[in-house]
Amino acid sequence: MIEVIEVPTGPSLDDYATSMHLTDAVAELRSATESITPLFEGRTVWLVNSTARGGGVAEMLPRQMGIMEELGVRTRWAVMGTDRHELFHLTKRLHNLLHGMGEPCISDEDRNLYEEVSRELQADFEPMVGPEDILLIHDPQPAGLGALVKESLGIPAVWRCHIGLDDDVPATRAGWSLLEPYVSRYDRVIFSAEEYVPPFLSDRSGLVRPALDPFSDKNQYLTPQEIIDVLGRAGLAISPHPLLSPPFSRQVERLQPDGSFKPATTPDDLRILHRPMIMQISRWDRLKGWAPLMKGFELFKGELLRDVSPQDRRAIEQTGLLLVGPEPAAVQDDPEAVEVLDELCHQYRTLPPEVRKDVALLSLPMEDQEENARIVNALQSSVTVVVQNSVREGFGLTATEPMWKGTPVLVSNACGLRQQIRPGTDGDMIQDPQDPVQVARALGRAVCEPDRRATMARSAQRRVREEFLVFTQVAQELQILAQTLRAPLAR
Ligand code: UDP
Repeated sequence: MIEVIEVPTGPSLDDYATSMHLTDAVAELRSATESITPLFEGRTVWLVNSTARGGGVAEMLPRQMGIMEELGVRTRWAVMGTDRHELFHLTKRLHNLLHGMGEPCISDEDRNLYEEVSRELQADFEPMVGPEDILLIHDPQPAGLGALVKESLGIPAVWRCHIGLDDDVPATRAGWSLLEPYVSRYDRVIFSAEEYVPPFLSDRSGLVRPALDPFSDKNQYLTPQEIIDVLGRAGLAISPHPLLSPPFSRQVERLQPDGSFKPATTPDDLRILHRPMIMQISRWDRLKGWAPLMKGFELFKGELLRDVSPQDRRAIEQTGLLLVGPEPAAVQDDPEAVEVLDELCHQYRTLPPEVRKDVALLSLPMEDQEENARIVNALQSSVTVVVQNSVREGFGLTATEPMWKGTPVLVSNACGLRQQIRPGTDGDMIQDPQDPVQVARALGRAVCEPDRRATMARSAQRRVREEFLVFTQVAQELQILAQTLRAPLAR
């Protein structure tokens, strides 16, 4: 089935331009797109993906569409779904393969399943699409659907792939073997890094970096009072004073040593605003490097940092670790999440009690997107360091977001994170995210060198303003769509 999602109206370009450091970005977008927007008259740009919430793509689409609309480009957002849940197991496997992970094997059964579901979806989607429209398909799940509709209607289509590996290995070859018959029918393809482009697509590929919306609930500036208010309303902090607004509809939950989830202030307040706090927020996915991060924190608390000054020792002793992710049931196309969370629960429960008391696994309610975004914002704005210890990362908005807020980041050298952070300039980098000793050392520097981390955080913030805001992204995407309308390659 195909669900068309209504996109709420957001701030106008003039609203953005009132903000001192966004004035130039808006002006640049207007002048870069002025000559191409007339090409889109009488057409709709269809953006298609596989989930309306959870994950970086769903996060970015609405604002991007709002801005395109204001520039005079009509857009619609279609989300594919299917009752055949095995499809999402296959596409999850495919996602892992394109990141170079998993058994490099795609069977005839897999190919048939992908083809069949794509055809079922084609039957639903095709009647919605007009003869002058253009498709902008996101990620592998709907790539088959897009190719079939493109071919059947003879319309231009662009495929944007948000994942990839900067290497050619048996796993990536297996993944591409499933997708090649579909994605090679597109006129243009877009990747987040040049390193991700497979050779068979090199004649039609373009580069667009993911980006964030500086006015979104997740990325707008919060005053200290607003941060305290959100933490209180989400149940993340015990407030000594009455809250200004009622609690959120659902509260954050925290894993307990007995394996159950209880309110986040059980058994004690997390003291988020009152001690050095390290945090990773991501989906519950093994590729995010959760397990070595927790192990690294254990080493950081233990013997590895025995020979430090009394002041550093006090900082290390006080430091807490927050491992934060969405309620697993909420992310439809991520069937592994529950399993990964179970493994982490087990690791948490077997930590020495003196370390475990400083570690919290938090599950964020996902039902209300606005509340979720405000919680993520308050956390990213208030912790000492945000870590993104990914083994693989397509881009990693979870790093871009704290960078924008001026919060120091510590990231792995996964290709997507390398696109954003110049090591030692915008943040520190862990060369091998699977090595807990390296993680522990990097955590030590991050906690014990406050001046250095503040300098890098300022640089990171400037970098986001220059490279990774939604204005740059919309300009680049419209350029590629316009090129496709003028000169489709694969008709
Ligand atoms: N996210 C969220 N709530 C969570 C966990 C993640 O809103 O509990 C958001 C996060 O803030 C980011 C997106 O999901 O905007 C994840 O995007 P990213 O590019 O980092 O990774 P992906 O999930 O696409 O692999």
